[in-house]
Amino acid sequence: MKTISILGSTGSIGTQTLEIVRRNKDLKVAAVSAGRNIRLLERQIREFGPRLAAVWSEEDAKELRMAVSDLDVDILCGMEGLEAVAACAESELLVTAIVGMIGIVPTVTAIRAGKDIALANKETLVTAGHIIMPLAKEHGVKILPVDSEHSAIFQSLNGENRSQIAKLLLTASGGPFRGKKREELEKMQVEDALRHPNWNMGQKITIDSATLVNKGLEVMEARWLFDVELDQIQVVVQPQSVIHSMVEFTDGAVIAQLGTPDMKLPIQYALYYPERRYLAGDRLDFAKLGSITFEEPDMETFAGLSYAIEAARTGGSMPTVFNAANERAVSKFLHREIGFTDIYRIIRACMDAHRVIAAPDIRQILEVEQGVYDMIESRW
Ligand code: NDP
Repeated sequence: MKTISILGSTGSIGTQTLEIVRRNKDLKVAAVSAGRNIRLLERQIREFGPRLAAVWSEEDAKELRMAVSDLDVDILCGMEGLEAVAACAESELLVTAIVGMIGIVPTVTAIRAGKDIALANKETLVTAGHIIMPLAKEHGVKILPVDSEHSAIFQSLNGENRSQIAKLLLTASGGPFRGKKREELEKMQVEDALRHPNWNMGQKITIDSATLVNKGLEVMEARWLFDVELDQIQVVVQPQSVIHSMVEFTDGAVIAQLGTPDMKLPIQYALYYPERRYLAGDRLDFAKLGSITFEEPDMETFAGLSYAIEAARTGGSMPTVFNAANERAVSKFLHREIGFTDIYRIIRACMDAHRVIAAPDIRQILEVEQGVYDMIESRW
């Protein structure tokens, strides 16, 4: 029996994680957390029987406590609640399926408590990779990637000597606006950006896929996870989302992981690593597939990727600025307060205004995040 906890159990990754638990009798859930969706959280508590659950606000916590008063479950709230879920004594592994930089502090808490991390919350590594990776090493915990591209790289590296990596080939679908020009992007609405061609994901990451910011975040995530130089990471557009990413080795061999686009595979791989388990679902049919095609990403039109690489090269607190500016800009776009390409303008302006801190600690990272939010609120 393996016992896990989930931060963000009501989201896209969280609910798919619970689907895997539902199908496997040897997985147990000790603790869960959600933001606002307390109706779904209540159903999850009734079905999976965790001893602890957390929501963000005190009012939601009160309402949930009333709703599950017939059960033996503690309900907490705020950052204290997230940290309690992260460090929950019974669990061995934490799935970080929460969205945004709010995931940093509970992830640090989980590592300090010796929990392995199935990491979906890429914002944690993007902003604090220089803290998270050494901390995980110090505490002997595994950081197991859930992001499909990073899982593909992780799977391709199985049994290989990591010092023989020549480069990582990070594949990208190109998102719903692949092939469009800047003038066309200016007109894109929320509904257009939420229509991803291959993947069904949470709203924020779907917008990030449309801007190619997501691929930029993934470059930064890959750099920390696999300890490679930025120049060893190449983004390749592969619109069918069949090849989930590849590794080229020093002898020229390229090893890839392929499959249908289903996040349950990388989630399950992280939960059972190094074992593989049966997973129901569609299989690749190469005869029907016909062709797999490749393109270079259009980094001029989709400035999200070029700004991300620039932020990663600058290093220090700049990736935090990039990430925080994007988080707030995406939220404004989803609320229809700004246009699609304003996301790029906001990121650019925040990066231009920032004075870099070379190796920020967690407190400084959170201060930089707040500073970026304040700047955006005062100007847009
Ligand atoms: P969703 O938006 O679907 O879910 C986010 C989860 O976080 C929900 O459970 C939400 O709760 C919770 N949450 C949000 N804000 C708060 C808060 N203030 N306090 C507590 N909980 C909060 O996101 P995804 O599942 O799509 O993504 C999660 C992470 O995984 C992201 O970092 C994303 O980049 C990454 N990822 C996602 C992939 C996907 O296929 N979806 C693929 C690869 C990576 P509630 O809904 O109850 O408010």
